[in-house]
Amino acid sequence: MSAGEVLVDCRDAARTFGRGLNAVVAVHGSSCRVRAGERIAVIGPSGSGKSTLLHLMAGLERPTTGTVTWPAAGESDDADPTPRIGVVFQGPSLIPALDVLENTALPLILAGVPEPAAHERASAALELLDIADLAGRLPEELSGGQGQRVAVARVLAQRPRLVLADEPTGQLDRDTGGRVIDVLLAAVAELGAALVVSTHDPAVAGRLAIRWRMHDGRLLLGDTEPAVSEGDSAGDPR
Ligand code: ADP
Ligand code: MG
Repeated sequence: MSAGEVLVDCRDAARTFGRGLNAVVAVHGSSCRVRAGERIAVIGPSGSGKSTLLHLMAGLERPTTGTVTWPAAGESDDADPTPRIGVVFQGPSLIPALDVLENTALPLILAGVPEPAAHERASAALELLDIADLAGRLPEELSGGQGQRVAVARVLAQRPRLVLADEPTGQLDRDTGGRVIDVLLAAVAELGAALVVSTHDPAVAGRLAIRWRMHDGRLLLGDTEPAVSEGDSAGDPR
Protein backbone atom coordinates (compact mmCIF):
# COMPACT_ATOMS: atom_id res chain seq x y z
CA MET A 1 0.00 0.00 0.00
CA SER A 2 1.53 3.32 -1.02
CA ALA A 3 1.36 6.39 1.18
CA GLY A 4 -1.31 8.83 0.10
CA GLU A 5 -3.29 6.12 -1.67
CA VAL A 6 -7.01 6.92 -1.59
CA LEU A 7 -8.94 4.18 0.22
CA VAL A 8 -12.39 5.71 -0.01
CA ASP A 9 -13.58 8.58 -2.16
CA CYS A 10 -16.97 10.20 -1.53
CA ARG A 11 -18.10 12.61 -4.23
CA ASP A 12 -21.16 14.66 -3.51
CA ALA A 13 -22.51 11.60 -1.72
CA ALA A 14 -25.89 12.14 -0.07
CA ARG A 15 -28.24 9.82 1.81
CA THR A 16 -31.92 10.44 2.36
CA PHE A 17 -34.14 8.16 4.42
CA GLY A 18 -37.89 7.94 3.80
CA ARG A 19 -39.93 9.71 1.15
CA GLY A 20 -42.05 12.81 0.63
CA LEU A 21 -42.98 14.65 3.80
CA ASN A 22 -41.19 12.01 5.89
CA ALA A 23 -37.90 12.32 4.05
CA VAL A 24 -34.87 12.98 6.26
CA VAL A 25 -31.63 14.05 4.64
CA ALA A 26 -29.17 12.26 6.93
CA VAL A 27 -26.17 13.35 4.83
CA HIS A 28 -26.23 16.22 2.33
CA GLY A 29 -23.97 16.02 -0.75
CA SER A 30 -20.57 15.45 0.83
CA SER A 31 -17.14 15.05 -0.71
CA CYS A 32 -14.26 13.59 1.24
CA ARG A 33 -11.37 11.18 0.88
CA VAL A 34 -9.56 8.93 3.29
CA ARG A 35 -5.95 8.16 2.42
CA ALA A 36 -3.74 5.34 3.64
CA GLY A 37 -2.55 5.83 7.19
CA GLU A 38 -4.73 8.87 7.99
CA ARG A 39 -6.31 9.34 11.43
CA ILE A 40 -9.59 11.23 11.12
CA ALA A 41 -12.21 12.24 13.68
CA VAL A 42 -15.76 12.98 12.51
CA ILE A 43 -17.17 15.26 15.19
CA GLY A 44 -20.80 16.24 15.53
CA PRO A 45 -23.80 16.11 17.83
CA SER A 46 -26.26 13.23 17.89
CA GLY A 47 -28.33 13.12 14.71
CA SER A 48 -25.82 15.10 12.63
CA GLY A 49 -25.22 12.20 10.21
CA LYS A 50 -21.99 10.65 11.51
CA SER A 51 -23.19 7.04 11.47
CA THR A 52 -24.73 7.46 8.03
CA LEU A 53 -21.47 8.92 6.67
CA LEU A 54 -19.47 6.01 8.12
CA HIS A 55 -21.97 3.50 6.71
CA LEU A 56 -21.61 5.13 3.28
CA MET A 57 -17.82 4.87 3.55
CA ALA A 58 -18.14 1.21 4.60
CA GLY A 59 -20.47 0.43 1.69
CA LEU A 60 -23.20 -0.59 4.16
CA GLU A 61 -25.47 2.16 2.82
CA ARG A 62 -25.69 3.28 -0.78
CA PRO A 63 -25.72 7.00 -1.52
CA THR A 64 -29.07 8.34 -2.72
CA THR A 65 -27.12 10.68 -5.02
CA GLY A 66 -23.42 11.06 -5.70
CA THR A 67 -20.86 8.29 -5.50
CA VAL A 68 -18.70 6.42 -3.01
CA THR A 69 -15.79 4.44 -4.45
CA TRP A 70 -12.88 2.44 -3.06
CA PRO A 71 -10.08 3.08 -5.56
CA ALA A 72 -7.64 0.68 -3.88
CA ALA A 73 -10.10 -2.22 -3.60
CA GLY A 74 -9.01 -3.97 -6.79
CA GLU A 75 -5.56 -4.67 -5.42
CA SER A 76 -6.74 -6.73 -2.44
CA ASP A 77 -4.69 -9.78 -1.65
CA ASP A 78 -6.35 -12.92 -3.03
CA ALA A 79 -4.76 -15.02 -0.30
CA ASP A 80 -6.73 -13.02 2.23
CA PRO A 81 -10.45 -13.08 1.45
CA THR A 82 -11.54 -10.88 4.39
CA PRO A 83 -13.06 -7.43 3.83
CA ARG A 84 -10.50 -4.65 3.77
CA ILE A 85 -12.76 -2.28 5.70
CA GLY A 86 -13.36 -3.06 9.37
CA VAL A 87 -16.24 -1.46 11.26
CA VAL A 88 -16.54 -0.98 15.01
CA PHE A 89 -20.28 -0.36 15.30
CA GLN A 90 -22.05 2.09 17.57
CA GLY A 91 -23.61 0.07 20.38
CA PRO A 92 -23.20 -3.60 21.27
CA SER A 93 -22.37 -5.78 18.29
CA LEU A 94 -21.07 -9.01 19.82
CA ILE A 95 -23.17 -12.14 19.34
CA PRO A 96 -24.49 -13.11 22.81
CA ALA A 97 -24.30 -16.88 22.29
CA LEU A 98 -20.65 -16.91 21.15
CA ASP A 99 -17.66 -16.51 23.43
CA VAL A 100 -15.04 -13.83 22.85
CA LEU A 101 -12.76 -16.00 20.71
CA GLU A 102 -15.69 -17.19 18.56
CA ASN A 103 -16.98 -13.63 18.18
CA THR A 104 -13.54 -12.45 17.12
CA ALA A 105 -13.11 -15.29 14.62
CA LEU A 106 -16.63 -15.15 13.15
CA PRO A 107 -16.10 -12.56 10.37
CA LEU A 108 -13.05 -14.53 9.21
CA ILE A 109 -14.98 -17.79 9.12
CA LEU A 110 -17.84 -16.07 7.25
CA ALA A 111 -15.27 -14.75 4.76
CA GLY A 112 -14.02 -18.28 4.11
CA VAL A 113 -10.94 -18.49 6.32
CA PRO A 114 -10.69 -22.11 7.60
CA GLU A 115 -11.64 -22.37 11.28
CA PRO A 116 -8.21 -23.26 12.74
CA ALA A 117 -6.56 -20.33 10.92
CA ALA A 118 -9.43 -18.03 11.91
CA HIS A 119 -9.05 -19.01 15.56
CA GLU A 120 -5.31 -18.47 15.36
CA ARG A 121 -5.74 -14.97 13.94
CA ALA A 122 -8.45 -14.19 16.48
CA SER A 123 -6.20 -15.36 19.34
CA ALA A 124 -3.35 -13.20 18.06
CA ALA A 125 -5.65 -10.16 17.92
CA LEU A 126 -6.86 -10.78 21.49
CA GLU A 127 -3.25 -11.17 22.58
CA LEU A 128 -2.27 -7.89 20.94
CA LEU A 129 -5.07 -6.06 22.76
CA ASP A 130 -4.09 -7.70 26.03
CA ILE A 131 -7.39 -9.50 26.44
CA ALA A 132 -6.34 -13.10 25.71
CA ASP A 133 -7.63 -13.99 29.20
CA LEU A 134 -11.18 -13.08 28.10
CA ALA A 135 -11.23 -15.58 25.20
CA GLY A 136 -13.67 -18.00 26.85
CA ARG A 137 -16.08 -15.40 28.22
CA LEU A 138 -19.53 -14.63 26.90
CA PRO A 139 -20.36 -11.00 25.99
CA GLU A 140 -22.69 -10.71 29.01
CA GLU A 141 -19.67 -11.40 31.24
CA LEU A 142 -17.74 -8.39 29.92
CA SER A 143 -17.64 -4.77 31.07
CA GLY A 144 -18.43 -2.06 28.50
CA GLY A 145 -14.73 -1.32 27.98
CA GLN A 146 -13.88 -5.01 27.59
CA GLY A 147 -16.71 -5.44 25.06
CA GLN A 148 -15.37 -2.54 22.98
CA ARG A 149 -11.87 -4.03 23.11
CA VAL A 150 -13.28 -7.27 21.75
CA ALA A 151 -15.04 -5.32 18.98
CA VAL A 152 -11.66 -3.74 18.14
CA ALA A 153 -9.93 -7.15 18.24
CA ARG A 154 -12.56 -8.55 15.87
CA VAL A 155 -11.78 -5.78 13.38
CA LEU A 156 -8.02 -6.16 13.87
CA ALA A 157 -8.23 -9.90 13.15
CA GLN A 158 -9.65 -9.03 9.71
CA ARG A 159 -6.48 -7.03 8.91
CA PRO A 160 -8.39 -4.19 7.27
CA ARG A 161 -6.73 -1.29 5.51
CA LEU A 162 -9.40 1.08 6.79
CA VAL A 163 -11.01 0.96 10.23
CA LEU A 164 -14.26 2.86 10.75
CA ALA A 165 -15.19 3.21 14.43
CA ASP A 166 -18.63 4.67 15.12
CA GLU A 167 -18.67 6.37 18.53
CA PRO A 168 -16.54 3.58 20.00
CA THR A 169 -16.41 5.38 23.36
CA GLY A 170 -20.01 6.60 23.41
CA GLN A 171 -21.13 4.28 26.20
CA LEU A 172 -17.92 4.44 28.24
CA ASP A 173 -16.62 6.68 31.00
CA ARG A 174 -13.83 9.02 30.01
CA ASP A 175 -10.87 6.92 31.28
CA THR A 176 -12.17 3.69 29.76
CA GLY A 177 -12.98 5.53 26.54
CA GLY A 178 -9.45 6.97 26.45
CA ARG A 179 -8.03 3.46 26.75
CA VAL A 180 -10.24 2.19 23.92
CA ILE A 181 -8.86 5.01 21.73
CA ASP A 182 -5.31 4.00 22.79
CA VAL A 183 -6.10 0.45 21.70
CA LEU A 184 -7.61 1.57 18.38
CA LEU A 185 -4.59 3.76 17.60
CA ALA A 186 -2.22 0.93 18.50
CA ALA A 187 -4.23 -1.51 16.36
CA VAL A 188 -4.20 0.68 13.25
CA ALA A 189 -0.49 1.43 13.75
CA GLU A 190 0.15 -2.32 13.87
CA LEU A 191 -1.90 -2.85 10.70
CA GLY A 192 -0.67 0.24 8.86
CA ALA A 193 -4.38 1.01 8.42
CA ALA A 194 -6.26 4.29 8.21
CA LEU A 195 -8.72 5.15 10.98
CA VAL A 196 -11.95 7.16 11.01
CA VAL A 197 -13.59 7.64 14.41
CA SER A 198 -16.95 9.35 14.85
CA THR A 199 -17.51 11.05 18.18
CA HIS A 200 -19.30 13.90 19.89
CA ASP A 201 -16.48 14.14 22.46
CA PRO A 202 -13.81 16.80 21.78
CA ALA A 203 -11.34 14.89 24.00
CA VAL A 204 -11.64 11.84 21.73
CA ALA A 205 -11.40 13.99 18.59
CA GLY A 206 -8.26 15.59 20.02
CA ARG A 207 -6.47 12.24 19.77
CA LEU A 208 -6.75 12.21 15.95
CA ALA A 209 -4.71 14.40 13.63
CA ILE A 210 -7.48 15.35 11.19
CA ARG A 211 -10.88 16.60 12.29
CA TRP A 212 -14.00 16.80 10.18
CA ARG A 213 -17.18 18.31 11.55
CA MET A 214 -20.77 17.36 10.84
CA HIS A 215 -23.75 19.56 11.48
CA ASP A 216 -27.30 18.77 10.35
CA GLY A 217 -26.01 16.32 7.76
CA ARG A 218 -23.44 18.72 6.36
CA LEU A 219 -19.79 17.75 6.38
CA LEU A 220 -17.14 20.41 6.95
CA LEU A 221 -13.57 19.37 6.26
CA GLY A 222 -10.42 21.06 7.46
CA ASP A 223 -9.34 21.84 11.01
CA THR A 224 -6.16 19.78 11.04
CA GLU A 225 -4.20 20.20 14.26
CA PRO A 226 -1.57 18.10 16.00
CA ALA A 227 -3.16 15.14 17.75
CA VAL A 228 -2.70 14.65 21.46
CA SER A 229 -0.17 11.87 21.57
CA GLU A 230 -0.64 8.56 23.33
CA GLY A 231 0.13 8.73 27.00
CA ASP A 232 -1.06 12.32 27.29
CA SER A 233 -4.25 12.72 29.21
CA ALA A 234 -7.12 11.82 26.91
CA GLY A 235 -9.30 14.00 29.07
CA ASP A 236 -7.64 17.35 28.39
CA PRO A 237 -10.18 19.85 27.14
CA ARG A 238 -8.97 21.49 23.95
P1 ADP B 1 -25.46 10.45 14.17
O1 ADP B 1 -24.73 9.19 13.99
O2 ADP B 1 -24.62 11.69 14.03
O3 ADP B 1 -26.24 10.47 15.45
P2 ADP B 1 -27.20 9.42 12.09
O4 ADP B 1 -26.40 9.26 10.85
O5 ADP B 1 -27.49 8.22 12.89
O6 ADP B 1 -26.54 10.57 12.99
O7 ADP B 1 -28.59 10.07 11.72
C1 ADP B 1 -28.73 11.27 10.95
C2 ADP B 1 -30.21 11.54 10.71
O8 ADP B 1 -30.72 10.54 9.86
C3 ADP B 1 -31.05 11.51 11.98
O9 ADP B 1 -32.07 12.48 11.84
C4 ADP B 1 -31.63 10.12 11.97
O10 ADP B 1 -32.85 10.08 12.65
C5 ADP B 1 -31.79 9.85 10.49
N1 ADP B 1 -31.65 8.40 10.17
C6 ADP B 1 -30.52 7.67 10.31
N2 ADP B 1 -30.71 6.39 9.90
C7 ADP B 1 -32.02 6.32 9.52
C8 ADP B 1 -32.84 5.27 9.01
N3 ADP B 1 -32.38 4.03 8.80
N4 ADP B 1 -34.14 5.57 8.75
C9 ADP B 1 -34.63 6.82 8.93
N5 ADP B 1 -33.91 7.85 9.40
C10 ADP B 1 -32.61 7.62 9.70
MG1 MG C 1 -24.44 7.59 15.25
